[in-house]
Amino acid sequence: LPPADVEALQPVDVAALLPRPGTQAHKYTRGVVGIRAGSSDYPGAGLLSVAGASTGLCGMVRYVGDAAVATRVRDVHPEVVGDGRVQAWVVGSGTGPHAAAELAAVLRDGESGVPCVIDADALAHVTAPLTSPAVLTPHAGELAAMTGVDRADIEAAPLAHARRAAMTYDAVVLLKGRHTLVAAPDGRVRVTTTGTPWLATAGAGDVLGGLIGALLAAGLDPFDAASVGSWVHGAAATLASDGGPIVAVDVASAVPAVVRRLLA
Ligand code: AMP
Ligand code: MG
Repeated sequence: LPPADVEALQPVDVAALLPRPGTQAHKYTRGVVGIRAGSSDYPGAGLLSVAGASTGLCGMVRYVGDAAVATRVRDVHPEVVGDGRVQAWVVGSGTGPHAAAELAAVLRDGESGVPCVIDADALAHVTAPLTSPAVLTPHAGELAAMTGVDRADIEAAPLAHARRAAMTYDAVVLLKGRHTLVAAPDGRVRVTTTGTPWLATAGAGDVLGGLIGALLAAGLDPFDAASVGSWVHGAAATLASDGGPIVAVDVASAVPAVVRRLLA
C-alpha cells in the first residue's frame, strides 16, 4: 500500500482528466506536440516516441529530428508532419550526441511557456532549476546519473528521491520502475500501479514520453499529464499483454482501447 500522502489515481479520476474534443474542436485547438527524439544510430527511439504521441489524444504530431529518421517516421505514421509551432515538446530518447542541442532548442521555447517532456539522453544536460514547465522521466539509473546519488539508494527510497528531485529541478519528476512515482515540486506525489512486468522491454519508456507530450499539448498541466500518461501507459501494457509478452509498439497500439474503455 502507498503511504497516505501518495495518491493512486482511480479510473474515474483518469477519465475526468483525459482531454476530449468538443464539437467545435479542430486539430490546432486539440494541441500540437513536437518530437525531438531519435538519431541515425537510434532511429527506433524516434519512431517509438512518435508512436506514443500519435495515439489520438492531441490534434497533431510534428517530428523535428534527424532527416533520415523523419523519412521512416512518415512511412510508419503518415499523419505526422514536420517543423512548425507546437504546444509541447518531447526531447531526449535516442538523441545521443545531439541531446544537448535538442534540449537547448526546447528550453528556448520554454521561455515563452511551452512545456516539455525531458527523457533519456537529454536528462544528463538538465541543470537545476528549470525555467520551462517540464516533466522529467528518469528511471533510477538516469536519476542517479543526474543527481550523483547511488542507484541503490534511489531504489531503496524512491519516494524521497523523486520528491527531492522535483524540488531541485522545479519540475515534475516521473521516476520509472515497477511502481512509477510522479512527484510535483509542491510535494504532491501520485503512484501508478496499472503496469505489468512485461513492460520491462526496450522502447517502453520512449512510448511513455510521447504519450505524456501529447497530453501536455492537449492542455493538461505537467503533473496531470505525467500521472495520466503513466496510468494509461501501464493500462495499455496490461491490456496488450493479457498475461503474455509484448514489445513497445504494442503499448502504443493499445492506448486508444484503454481510452475508449475509460470514456465509455
Ligand atoms: P525505460 O527504462 O525508459 O525503457 O522505461 C521502462 C518502462 O517500463 C517504464 O514505463 C517503467 O515504469 C516500465 N517498467 C520497467 N520495469 C517494470 C516492472 N518490473 N514492472 C512494471 N513496469 C516496469
Ligand atoms: Mg528510457
